[in-house]
Amino acid sequence: AHLDPALAHAIERRTRLLGPAYRLFYQTPVEVCRGSGTRLFDKQGGEYLDAYNNVVSVGHCNPHVIEAVHEQMSTLCTHTRYVQDGILDYAEAMLPSFGGRIGETGHMMFTCTGSEANDLALRIAKHHTGRRGIIVTEEAYHGNSELTAGFSPSLGERAPLGTWVRRIPAPDSYRHDPAALGRMLADAVTRQAYELMRAGDGLAAFVADSLFSSDGVYASPEVLGPVAEAVRAAGGLFIADEVQAGFGRSGDRFWGYQRHGIDPDIVTMGKPMGNGFPVAAIAVTPEAVASFGSDMRYFNTFGGNGVAIAAARATREVILNDNLQANATRIGALLRDGISGLANRFEGIGDVRGAGLYIGVEMVTERAARSPDAALAARIVNEMRERRVLISATGPEANVLKIRPPLVFSDADADWLLSTLEAVLAA
Ligand code: PMP
Repeated sequence: AHLDPALAHAIERRTRLLGPAYRLFYQTPVEVCRGSGTRLFDKQGGEYLDAYNNVVSVGHCNPHVIEAVHEQMSTLCTHTRYVQDGILDYAEAMLPSFGGRIGETGHMMFTCTGSEANDLALRIAKHHTGRRGIIVTEEAYHGNSELTAGFSPSLGERAPLGTWVRRIPAPDSYRHDPAALGRMLADAVTRQAYELMRAGDGLAAFVADSLFSSDGVYASPEVLGPVAEAVRAAGGLFIADEVQAGFGRSGDRFWGYQRHGIDPDIVTMGKPMGNGFPVAAIAVTPEAVASFGSDMRYFNTFGGNGVAIAAARATREVILNDNLQANATRIGALLRDGISGLANRFEGIGDVRGAGLYIGVEMVTERAARSPDAALAARIVNEMRERRVLISATGPEANVLKIRPPLVFSDADADWLLSTLEAVLAA
């Protein structure tokens, strides 16, 4: 592609200054300088529909969050070694939302990123069980720290997994009977837990993203129940990674794991928690964290600071007050119906799935064979971008369109996305 000289210069500068490890989206990368609601703007004032950013779930530059952050930053910003109301009010408001054991007597601990949250969850699980083995799904992503990258197979073969990591298949509802998925995964957990025991590691925890984002977006409900039982039977903790699925994203429930009717030992969260302000956390049962708490001390300089908590509080208020979970349910269904309608005319759409405003559209070369078509998915993502609608692709074969807009996505936004997708498929 022939790039605009100013953009080419900015990209050259970026590579020179930030080095070789960063990646950009799209054949023609997007340069942004401003955001508002579901829109991003470039320097020329060009307007883009953001159908990908699940971090700013209450919309880019949400005024309520800005106000809360500004006010707290002007009052006090310090860490968790002083007594402060804000963090307690937030934990008190949030804990009941988890239901089960965490909802009754659980605790929250605060970090700055989802990686840190998963890292802490694993440390707690290892300490509690006295074991170090961990089971994840085939293409899971759980973070960028040394520990979490070690159980993130989606980073690719050159990022070696820990020797203490075992994998099970993702609940692929496109290629298996959804009713059989729970049993299938649970049996795989039992086998892998046995392997870990034989290797001398034992099972400390099973960790799964409740919407299996990097595995290709799988949203069949009630799958993780048998898995949780198998994990418990093997003596491990169940860690629900809600970094992607949490905070109303899945529509019908506030937390993704609740669609599976399970009671996890630890829940990890991040991304949308502060609408872009770095704030993440774990919620944990008292039993799981008891020995860690007496043997260790936990301090995270920025984790749970006053401003991060203000951002989290304000974000939560907008999600609840503006009924964004219900909006995710309604607009999500509208988008999935619209795309399913397009599937009647376009052979390349093999499967439309997801929950709430987390949608996966699997592109195939041939429907009968369900053969992945990564090239088609990449063409669609790039053509959508040329028409200023931003989505991406995921899954082990990168053939699943990933549509994951802010929760404030409107009817008009949905129309824009659907008409653009239709035009791109027709072309
Ligand atoms: N878990 C999941 C499921 C994620 O998708 C991510 C981020 N993509 C993380 C953990 C890590 O979060 P962070 O980038 O905030 O460290």
